[in-house]
Amino acid sequence: KKEQLELLSTVESVTKDGTHMRLSANISSVKELDMAVKYGALGVGLFRTEFLYMDRSTFPSEEEQFAVYRQVVQKMDGRPTVIRTLDIGGDKQLEYFPLPQEDNPFLGYRAIRISLERQELFQTQLTAILRASAYGKVKIMYPMISSVEEVRQANLILRKAMADLDTRGIPYDADIPVGVMIEIPAAVVIADLLAEESDFFSIGTNDLVQYVLAVDRMNEQVAHLYHPYHPAVLRMLRTIAEAAGKANIPVSVCGEMAGDERSIPLWLELGINDLSMSIQSLLRVKHRVLNTTASAAREAARQCYKLATSTEIEKLLTDFNESSC
Ligand code: PEP
Ligand code: MG
Repeated sequence: KKEQLELLSTVESVTKDGTHMRLSANISSVKELDMAVKYGALGVGLFRTEFLYMDRSTFPSEEEQFAVYRQVVQKMDGRPTVIRTLDIGGDKQLEYFPLPQEDNPFLGYRAIRISLERQELFQTQLTAILRASAYGKVKIMYPMISSVEEVRQANLILRKAMADLDTRGIPYDADIPVGVMIEIPAAVVIADLLAEESDFFSIGTNDLVQYVLAVDRMNEQVAHLYHPYHPAVLRMLRTIAEAAGKANIPVSVCGEMAGDERSIPLWLELGINDLSMSIQSLLRVKHRVLNTTASAAREAARQCYKLATSTEIEKLLTDFNESSC
């Protein structure tokens, strides 16, 4: 089975009736890159930069980060790489950067919130990413965005990093696309406003499901309530897709739902054709895409939107998936 799937690495990801679905890889180490390329990823849709900051005793310098980002970008050889700025806090801690004890770390000091407070760290990372953009196709993505102000503040620091590189005479892509993760319910509700400030959206379903349902994604006690196929999640996905469509910006999905082949009808219905997932999911999802008829899948997704419970939605999508095997 594994060997059969590997034959699909170079096959184009397209439904039986001709709808293309771009499949990219989520990466959280440089090691994973070779596998991503081997399995035919069309890009890196989510480069989790946290690993660069972990298992060491100080923050990585601009040079250290630049070396890694450049390596990634060069390996991708023209295929786009979406580099997400530091997303620590929540469950991810750094030994040399003690964060305050918090009662609700997932509602606390995390990701862009830290970057906007520790601007010197943020600017260093942005500078390193910008430098890598001279070597291939790079996009910048901000995590945990909940307001327009955060995007504007982050972009101010990005412009400082650009001005600094101009002074130093170092090249970068001045038109580098800058997007935001949609993973907080507030960001969904104001998706139309955020779309005015962003070059693209990427939906982080792992956090989005956690926050919409108020279910800690790490807490086993409530794991049975963590439902990606909750009607509230589906409605949020629709709001995001419609806002992106109106503003004419691309939207992709990089949370675990992208790697669950049962979700394919939802993406087809919403007109989302860009998914990024863990490497292990790439060929399995492609196999499903190849066996899917988009028109039937869209009809199944429309039925999902009429259902009232996660159980029914999940069953419908599971049955649809099995019937098109
Ligand atoms: C997400 O929240 O869906 C996501 C992709 O980011 P992470 O899992 O790294 O929080
Ligand atoms: Mg997230």
